[in-house]
Amino acid sequence: MANKPAKMRMCISCRAAKPQSEMHRLVRTPEGTAALDMTGRADGRGAYLCKAQACIERAQLQRRAERALSCSVPAEIYTQLGEMNA
Ligand SMILES: [Zn+2]
Repeated sequence: MANKPAKMRMCISCRAAKPQSEMHRLVRTPEGTAALDMTGRADGRGAYLCKAQACIERAQLQRRAERALSCSVPAEIYTQLGEMNA
């Protein structure tokens, strides 16, 4: 399994494709809200975001995650993402 190529995921903010290990994953929960998927394996519709602060900020400003997931994204999500970069 070590040689398995990494799946590329597209950032919802800048649309760059990167390995999943270099992205944050958001997932839509059954409750219809977005959550951070720390494991990268949560069930549900997912959206990927670069770990770059600029991508996180742009995604929030342009409501890209809302559109990608068709659900509301609490502001805390972006706060958490920003803190993980700190
Ligand atoms: Zn990006």
